[in-house]
Amino acid sequence: MSKPFFLLCPVLCLCMFAPLDAMAFDLGQIGSVVGVARDLGKAVTLKEAEVIKTARLSADQFDKRNRIASHNSKYSRRLRKIVNGLKQYDGLRLNYKVYLSEEVNAFAMPDGTVRIYSGLMDLMTDGEVLAVMGHEIGHVKLKHSFHQMRKQLLTSSAFKTAAAAGGTVGSLTNSALGDLGYAFINSTFSKKDELSADAYAVRFLRSRGKNIGAMKSSIVKLQKRFGSGGGFLSSHPSNSKRIANIQKEMDKL
Ligand SMILES: [Zn+2]
Repeated sequence: MSKPFFLLCPVLCLCMFAPLDAMAFDLGQIGSVVGVARDLGKAVTLKEAEVIKTARLSADQFDKRNRIASHNSKYSRRLRKIVNGLKQYDGLRLNYKVYLSEEVNAFAMPDGTVRIYSGLMDLMTDGEVLAVMGHEIGHVKLKHSFHQMRKQLLTSSAFKTAAAAGGTVGSLTNSALGDLGYAFINSTFSKKDELSADAYAVRFLRSRGKNIGAMKSSIVKLQKRFGSGGGFLSSHPSNSKRIANIQKEMDKL
């Protein structure tokens, strides 16, 4: 079992991935992104809309490789109750689904895709699930997800290959796109980003008229379940630091 999601908060959990070589992106849809590769080696500008478009395509593929809870499943019904009609927030258009998996995990993509794992829903109360969603929405709103995706795009071999080939769309293979996605999901956010997403979640809960303590209790619950971690986790904020940061934000409200 992988580590709990937001002690680490990878953009995506590694274990959820089937081999990505077969990913079938519509290259035409990301033609504008590929075109940027022509300028690699020069100053590269990658527009936000291009990154978001790529993220949306990736999300579509991720969905196909996971067991999505059916509309009438207990998880989907519960998520709808938790979300309570929230489709837009803070200028973002959001879409939600539940992945049927024992993983205690969740992620968000720069396009507003939010995915919650049933394992996380089993562990947490409705309020805590909403807090986690607020945390993930925070990563999107604060552009952590965007910058991470952009970084992976600009450092990917796919773009270098495209540039070497004169930037032709045909030189960007599905396999290369899969590698790009793999790099993206294995990336992590900075300590600063995690702390700011936690604080965002507190404000999110308040704006929804919910218990703002749910973000804190979700961290405490993960601490009890998984411990404080080590190794890779050590590069992330400690739970005590996160809780103190959350409490500080709560005290402001
Ligand atoms: Zn996070």
